[in-house]
Amino acid sequence: MSYAEVSVNSPIAQRRTFSYAIPPHLEINVGQAVWVPFGDKRLQGIVLELSPHPEVEETREIIGVIEPRPLLSPQQLQLARWISQYYLSPLFDAVALMLPPGFERRTITFISPTPLPTDFDLSTLNAEQKQALELIQEKGKLSLGQLEKTLGRKKAQTIASQLVNRGLAVKSYELEKIRVKPKMVPYLSLAVAASEAEEAIDKLRRQGKAPKQATLLEYLTQQSGAVPWAEARENTKCSKATADALVSKGLAKFQEVEVRREPISYKDIVPSPPLTLTSAQKSAFEAIKSSLAEGKTKTFLLHGVTGSGKTEVYLQALAETVKLGKKAIVLVPEIALTPQTIERFAARFPQRVAVLHSKLSLGEQFDEWQRIRNGQFDVVIGSRSAIFAPQPELGLIVIDEEQEWTYKQQDKAPRYHARDAALKLADLSGATVVLGSATPDVESFYRAQRGDYRLLQLPERVTPYDGSALPKVEVVDLREELKAGNQSLFSRSLFQAISQAIANKEQVILFLNRRGAASFIQCRSCGFVMRCKRCDVPLSYHLTENKLVCHQCNYRINVPESCPRCGRRRIKFLGIGTQRLEQEVGYTFPQARLLRWDSDVTKGRYSHDEILTKFRAHQADVLIGTQMVAKGLDLPLVTLVGVVSADTALNLPDFRGGERTFQLLCQVAGRAGRGVRGGRVIIQTYSPEHYAIRAAAEHDYASFYEQEIDYRRQLRNPPFTQLAGLTCSHSHDALCQREAERMKRFLDQEIASQGIAGIELIGPAPAFIHRLRGRFRWQLILRGAELSAFLSPLPLPPGWTVDIDPMGLV
Ligand SMILES: [Zn+2]
Ligand SMILES: [Zn+2]
Repeated sequence: MSYAEVSVNSPIAQRRTFSYAIPPHLEINVGQAVWVPFGDKRLQGIVLELSPHPEVEETREIIGVIEPRPLLSPQQLQLARWISQYYLSPLFDAVALMLPPGFERRTITFISPTPLPTDFDLSTLNAEQKQALELIQEKGKLSLGQLEKTLGRKKAQTIASQLVNRGLAVKSYELEKIRVKPKMVPYLSLAVAASEAEEAIDKLRRQGKAPKQATLLEYLTQQSGAVPWAEARENTKCSKATADALVSKGLAKFQEVEVRREPISYKDIVPSPPLTLTSAQKSAFEAIKSSLAEGKTKTFLLHGVTGSGKTEVYLQALAETVKLGKKAIVLVPEIALTPQTIERFAARFPQRVAVLHSKLSLGEQFDEWQRIRNGQFDVVIGSRSAIFAPQPELGLIVIDEEQEWTYKQQDKAPRYHARDAALKLADLSGATVVLGSATPDVESFYRAQRGDYRLLQLPERVTPYDGSALPKVEVVDLREELKAGNQSLFSRSLFQAISQAIANKEQVILFLNRRGAASFIQCRSCGFVMRCKRCDVPLSYHLTENKLVCHQCNYRINVPESCPRCGRRRIKFLGIGTQRLEQEVGYTFPQARLLRWDSDVTKGRYSHDEILTKFRAHQADVLIGTQMVAKGLDLPLVTLVGVVSADTALNLPDFRGGERTFQLLCQVAGRAGRGVRGGRVIIQTYSPEHYAIRAAAEHDYASFYEQEIDYRRQLRNPPFTQLAGLTCSHSHDALCQREAERMKRFLDQEIASQGIAGIELIGPAPAFIHRLRGRFRWQLILRGAELSAFLSPLPLPPGWTVDIDPMGLV
């Protein structure tokens, strides 16, 4: 007998597998989905390993197979194990990342008859048992639900069990089918023979009354069969009424035809040939090409300023991958997964691109998953979770905008980072990885400097005209504006620039960063921000207590009456929303047509795209938006980008605040000057001397990096250490705090008793979002090395979550 190590879908299972015996009649493979007994339940499991010996003495048998084909490849199984061990997440949660969408569905119990023993005495059965047995013998296989209809709910269960116990029937289990509502489209066709239609056309023409009907009818006679109504309408310019008239005369008929859902509509996509590479692009491409040919794992960091043509390098690297008989996965930030992005890839690889999109319906995702697994696509493109697509023969992984925070899953376990998962997957599969960014994550750049990644640089913009320079950036000191008596949201410089652009019929983007807005206080005279004496992070304002709080160490002070630096009483809460900004712009520039873009307005499936299309079509002069406007838009009419306040990200109570500010400003600035008219950027701030703002204004990643990596080293922050966040949530604030303090004492003892040097505990302190969905949250930060290994064996009571390599401390 052989045994299987199974990851079981139960919260009790946590990070371990369970041993099950494989009954002789089942053929079990690694990666297969099976039913296993667990306590008194029957649960889903995935076979991780086969072995001749069980891990424990007593094992139970696998009940059955859910799907005959293994769902996970051996590499994916190893990746799942790594995710569970590294991010300290339940093993099945990690496995589930790679299962087909909708895998965890309701299961249906079926009863089937067994051959009756020849000597079986039917009179030993009671009337209901006999009835049930006859029913299943007649049908061959019956779901418990169907049996319930005949016998009633309770009886059906009891009687089914009795028949099974007496060996007259067996139970089996199947997943409920995914209910994919088929997509139906109306088709129009002739309802009569072609000759009869010709006569009708002649008659209509002779009467001269209904020329449209004649046109449509003639069109239908020219088709080989039924045509989609939308197509017929488009080609003949006839209305529905015309078609209905033909239908009522019995000459044509409508029918509903089921069509396959296509996440990509290729109808309007024109295949595009590769572009000629610039010399910088070419040398980047050549480096990737030789790595692909070698087929050994290698990671590249492609650092290219906005507009330098990174995508063309990706596209040619993808073509090279296909040439070698391999396939690829491309990750883009969710926000960038627009039809424009998809089109670019689809135009280069017609019919060979799959899209995994959280906005696809479950049915669409499921169909796409199956087709990917069957090897139908050269390229899978998607956001974070697309890294787990079952793409066979993986040769290349591209992660565009690798610094994006959305690559980290933060809201639920496993709290994985797609970039790190990709690096692990590449390790396991021998794939080449290309991380692309205009503003690489400081940690990635550090790794490239150290030689872990190979650095490829595209230092110049590729533009079809002369304007290859980056836009000019002006930094406006808001303190100077106040001194000059200007209290408005717009500095004199920004005001003039907006007026000018509108007068020239050009477009303007106004950028506002809302995250963390109004959480810090700043002196409007000298720009001073209150910081924690112990942690040097900005203090957050808590309205309920009217206090300033450090979210790392819980240090608290009262809000000062006047500025501790300049003594003026201009201490002010900052932060305005996009709505308020929209009002102000409308008031100040009544002639401008406005468009607002933030998460409040974009809830629907394509509304990002709708807003963009509108703006691109110049149906608005000013686009007001948050982070979203910063991403990869190519808008040639935009000549001015205004950053209303650069200080919000800067003053997040987090060591990544400077990096975040630099990235945002560079991205936003990259939106300007993409057309022949060139462009300029105006950044308004109370901290014009801050290195992140100065470097962004100069488009100078190197000087930003030098300063930032220095601070990281001094303050022992990543990449020089590792962080882990432990968060406790509880309906009672004081109890939550007490539990967090207990945990700190416990961890302190562990560190002391294991004699570990270099792990530091910070906190506990209230989390930046102190109250979430009615529960209070306190957090502890661990700083050191090998934190997964340290935390792994320690018990984590209910109410606690762990986040390895958190994106921020807030
Ligand atoms: Zn502090
Ligand atoms: Zn001051």
